[in-house]
Amino acid sequence: MNTAELYEKYILSNYGVRTHTLVRGEGVRAWDDTGKCYLDFCTGIAVDALGHSHPQWVRAVQKQAATLVHTSNLFRNELQGRLAQAIVQKAGPGKMFFCNSGTEANEALLKLARLHGRKKASGAEGVCHKVIVAEKAFHGRTFGAMSATPQDKIQNGFRPMLDGFAVGKMNDLSSFEKLIGSDTAAILIEAVQGEGGLSMAKPEFLQGLRALCDKHGILLMFDEIQCGLGRVGKFLAFQLSGVKADAFSLAKGLAGGFPMGGIWVAEQHTDLFTPGSHGATFGGNPLACAAALAMMEVLDGEGLIEKIAKQTPAWHQALNGIVAKHPKVAKEVRGVGYMTGIALHVPTAPVVMALREEGLLTAPAGGDVIRLLPPLIATEADLAESVAIFDKVLARMESN
Ligand SMILES: *Cc1c(COP(=O)(O)O)cnc(C)c1O
Repeated sequence: MNTAELYEKYILSNYGVRTHTLVRGEGVRAWDDTGKCYLDFCTGIAVDALGHSHPQWVRAVQKQAATLVHTSNLFRNELQGRLAQAIVQKAGPGKMFFCNSGTEANEALLKLARLHGRKKASGAEGVCHKVIVAEKAFHGRTFGAMSATPQDKIQNGFRPMLDGFAVGKMNDLSSFEKLIGSDTAAILIEAVQGEGGLSMAKPEFLQGLRALCDKHGILLMFDEIQCGLGRVGKFLAFQLSGVKADAFSLAKGLAGGFPMGGIWVAEQHTDLFTPGSHGATFGGNPLACAAALAMMEVLDGEGLIEKIAKQTPAWHQALNGIVAKHPKVAKEVRGVGYMTGIALHVPTAPVVMALREEGLLTAPAGGDVIRLLPPLIATEADLAESVAIFDKVLARMESN
């Protein structure tokens, strides 16, 4: 059986039909099983942060695989300690917990919110547990994170959701303020929405949320799973607004392609999790931590965050140029840094396919947006190549 047949027969159909089989990657490029080469600006949905098979990452993973892979959290491992130190040094005073995916990291944030709520309610459980999220948010597919994801297409078929979520409007402070009561434990928000279509939280809005949280003793928790780790030209996307977080979640690019998630909790809240209150068998194992440490070292060693901040304006300008050139199909450029997209007037799926035909892998987002999620190592030339391909495809769509 070929791969398509194997999928047809043995893989559950919770994803739409896949049309391509990828077999190899190197840097910004990936190859399919027909030998066709692509500029990979899908990067496994913002996961392959260093591109494919970055030599420093490969060396670190190979070495660790041959040394020690997994121990459980019943034992210490040096790499987990060093990784936590590296993140805390960039994020601010606090502590880390590691797990294996984004949704699992957000579950940890939601449990942190419950513990905070219990403390706020002087030890009473279930009194203060509400979490306010933003319209069009995406926080994951497990029950807690799914309940925090106010989208019918995600929740459909799985109701009833977990109790205790309320939904405010992005960049509408009063819509959040109205929802705050004595039962409110936390606000959970993406500084730049990923799956939701690349809406950005404005600095004034996040500063307003910070003030509301301070006033009411509510945790301000950021989902940095997609927008964090340098992608927007800052280590964390909420840092663009100059606000401080009580906690945030990471995953996707954290271990440069290896499955890993984690949360950072600000110093003043690190006593909330007590022994036995949470856990993850695989979380922070030596292999994942070696991969993530390599990712952090390359991020710094190659000055990627500064490069992204420097290279983005010209890229956005060029993308704005092709949007202006094809107004019948293209609406506008969205997003920030290497988390950018083009909103279209036409359905995105055929455009995503046409881009693939022309050798560019992209990631569709909610509604009308096609996301460009270059690896953090992408150069000016790679960015320019993506513009040229997009231009060609938009021209073709316009003439159809
Ligand atoms: C991808 C994503 C998640 C879920 O991560 P998984 O690893 O797929 O569970 C949660 N929040 C945001 C913002 C994401 O982009």
